[in-house]
Amino acid sequence: MQVVWFKRDLRIHDHAALALAAQAGPVLPLYILEPELWAQPDMSARQYAFLLDCLRDLNDALSGLGHRLIIRVGSATEILEDLHRNHRIHALWSHQETWNAWTYTRDMAVSKWCRTHAITWHEPMQHGVFRRLSQRDHWAKRWHEQMLAPRVQAPYLPPADPMIVTDHLPSGEKLGLFAVGETDLQSGGRRAGVAVLNSFLYERGRSYTRQMSSPVTAFDSCSRLSPHLAFGTISLREAFQATEKRAKDLRDAAQTERGTWPRAIKSFSSRLRWHCHFIQKLEDQPSIEYQNLHPAYDGLRPREIDEKRLHAWATGTTGYPMIDASMRALRATGWLNFRMRAMVMSFSSYHLWQDWRRPAQHLAQMFVDYEPGIHFSQVQMQSGTTGINSIRIYNPIKQSIDQDPKGVFIRKWIPELRDMDTALIHTPWKAASQMNGYPMPIVDEPTARRAAADLVYGLRKNNPLHRTEARRIVEKHASRKKPPAARKKRTTSPNQPELPF
Ligand SMILES: Cc1cc2nc3c(=O)[nH]c(=O)nc-3n(C[C@H](O)[C@H](O)[C@H](O)COP(=O)(O)OP(=O)(O)OC[C@H]3O[C@@H](n4cnc5c(N)ncnc54)[C@H](O)[C@@H]3O)c2cc1C
Repeated sequence: MQVVWFKRDLRIHDHAALALAAQAGPVLPLYILEPELWAQPDMSARQYAFLLDCLRDLNDALSGLGHRLIIRVGSATEILEDLHRNHRIHALWSHQETWNAWTYTRDMAVSKWCRTHAITWHEPMQHGVFRRLSQRDHWAKRWHEQMLAPRVQAPYLPPADPMIVTDHLPSGEKLGLFAVGETDLQSGGRRAGVAVLNSFLYERGRSYTRQMSSPVTAFDSCSRLSPHLAFGTISLREAFQATEKRAKDLRDAAQTERGTWPRAIKSFSSRLRWHCHFIQKLEDQPSIEYQNLHPAYDGLRPREIDEKRLHAWATGTTGYPMIDASMRALRATGWLNFRMRAMVMSFSSYHLWQDWRRPAQHLAQMFVDYEPGIHFSQVQMQSGTTGINSIRIYNPIKQSIDQDPKGVFIRKWIPELRDMDTALIHTPWKAASQMNGYPMPIVDEPTARRAAADLVYGLRKNNPLHRTEARRIVEKHASRKKPPAARKKRTTSPNQPELPF
């Protein structure tokens, strides 16, 4: 029996592990619901709701192949042990996974269990993230090759053993997962994923480049593919190839039909590469989940969190409308666009001067699309602890004026400010009589921003080891197309491809 262990790849299309296992013998499609994983502080009820949709769709897809998804609840090694004792496992198949520290440790235990029982564990690649990379030269080229490889067809599956029992999935509450005010979450499952991809590529994405940064437009204009990529209802290769096809069709189309589409599609395609570029960092250095990437920043901020500040930030009551509307929107929908994610993280790390770890955990829980490799890399970038990115401190008042000039997003999520004059909506403290119980600012923006900047720039300037370590980090993690010897000094050309850094 070939056990196909579905993890964050909840589909039958372009599923290398399933296809290869089917060539080797009778297949058992297995999902292990691990209560200990769901008890980790980065997991949440909203992610669980999305997972349940995905499992339902996956089971339907497997029924089309004459199978059903076998669910088991418990620890992976105990479940494999039980299956092996009762049904004898010949080989285990699953996609490579680069996820959080808990899954890393669990995979070590599964690997040991397989070795002890002389069972081969086959792990084909899932995205464009490479294991055991010693350096990043030619990474983008390898990524492209991976994305352009033919997609794997859903296989024929020989009949299954009807005696294998399946467990019931526990409720979220039973796992200790409770709703926290979600009202408008994305649906999970393969069918929703395909619909989201197609509606973006052919309808919603036209003004992606211009509209992605404003939260007024981003909810519709961004692809919203992130939770589907995180749970693997769509493979990254599938998304990339659909995007390439759309780009080709646009090249062949009349100019009047093209409009802003080509730029939008190009930008989106770059971001699909960033997805793996960031996960690759966690693959190469798992410690970025809990340690500063650059050690010079250890001790810069106090490790102890100011609970009052954290609470105000998390509940959207800091007195800065753009921060608060974003945090309230996130609580309700489980999603934010990139610009607002960067801004809320920067506000916590700079203006509120909080260590990034607890806020990152809060955001991880709030994001349905939580993907540790992207998440922790971005959190550290927006907190200035990578040592290699320029320091970017978002001014929440400027963001508010730039991205929501009429206060549409703010009024939607902050009912207290619904009737506030537009001229004052970005700085409501200037109209105390119209605030309706909305709080005064938690810190003075310019003072807090300057104090944070002085400390971070001071550290960069005064620590003699900063530059040496930064160079090492660039060599290990930075995206580049050519090896160091072939690289010229970087120039800023408008035609330069978009690079995350
Ligand atoms: C502090 C912070 C935390 C983040 N945490 C996550 C996370 O947990 N999971 C997650 O998927 N994204 C995360 N992002 C990146 C980005 O904000 C989301 O990928 C994006 O908002 C998802 O919406 P979308 O699918 O509509 O994106 P689109 O703009 O339509 O992009 C398409 C896809 O490209 C990838 N992508 C887009 N932007 C980035 C980026 N800057 N870095 C890496 N990949 C990118 C994603 O896979 C995304 O689904 C984070 C960003 C910040 C600043």
